[in-house]
Amino acid sequence: EPIVQVNDLCKDYVTRGFTNGASSVFHAVKNVSFELYPRQTYALVGESGSGKSTTGRMVCALERPTSGSASFEGRAYTDDSPALLRKGIRSKIQMVFQDPFSALNPRKTIGNALVEAMEIQRIGSSRADRRDRAVAMLERVGLSSAHMDRFPHQFSGGQLQRVTIARALAVEPRVLILDESVSALDVSVQAQVLNLLQDLKDDLGLSYLFITHDLSVVRFIADRVGVLRHGELVEEDDVASIFRNP
Ligand code: ADP
Ligand code: ADP
Repeated sequence: EPIVQVNDLCKDYVTRGFTNGASSVFHAVKNVSFELYPRQTYALVGESGSGKSTTGRMVCALERPTSGSASFEGRAYTDDSPALLRKGIRSKIQMVFQDPFSALNPRKTIGNALVEAMEIQRIGSSRADRRDRAVAMLERVGLSSAHMDRFPHQFSGGQLQRVTIARALAVEPRVLILDESVSALDVSVQAQVLNLLQDLKDDLGLSYLFITHDLSVVRFIADRVGVLRHGELVEEDDVASIFRNP
């Protein structure tokens, strides 16, 4: 049984010509279907502009599909109201972006960011309990209680990506969508964060939708690979077969 099933997802953007004002429809994602199985990593790869992020945002219900749907454990959620999404899929599927600096409020301490994410999802019994959980999660990603009262600018890029991973996991999701989450990091930092993601996946029983343009990362982390080209899924296979083919 897949944990997430993506069925014929399409996304059209209406663009208006700058000079003549005529509108035209751009098909950014075209009939994309795939399945993410429990405890597996599905890598969505493709060149810049091929529709990876748009697909990820639709699967995370941050953006509504033009048509098609995504289901979690058999239930379609992509047409749910914002209120229903907040109570439902937000606690099950979380997204981690490329740039942790723009994903965090610069005026909010790391501790408050984690505690507030938990409050919204009603995780924890009290503020003290949520702070304890936040510290435990920071420790789990290689940080510590000393980081709770710091602000985003007091971290390096690699440390701050660990913070956004901790915030995503603080609401106890089952699925992470990682959109170029290690792409901006130095190679050595990238390897550390990838190893951390592997450990977290195994320990917490997570499933990953891993969006990247970097095939060396795919080889390390993926079980199954889907290739997007101009919005279409043009190839899909197990990771070993993808790299065996010329
Ligand atoms: P990728 O993640 O593979 O780089 P994206 O999903 O970001 O690709 O974008 C796919 C295509 O859709 C690109 O051509 C992009 O310019 C276009 N696109 C993405 N978001 C929008 C938007 N909000 N409005 C118009 N076009 C968009
Ligand atoms: P580390 O090497 O420890 O991961 P860096 O400071 O080198 O941390 O940053 C890693 C990535 O984060 C870089 O690619 C950079 O683009 C991004 N980054 C670093 N500082 C900022 C910032 N203040 N705002 C936005 N992005 C940043």
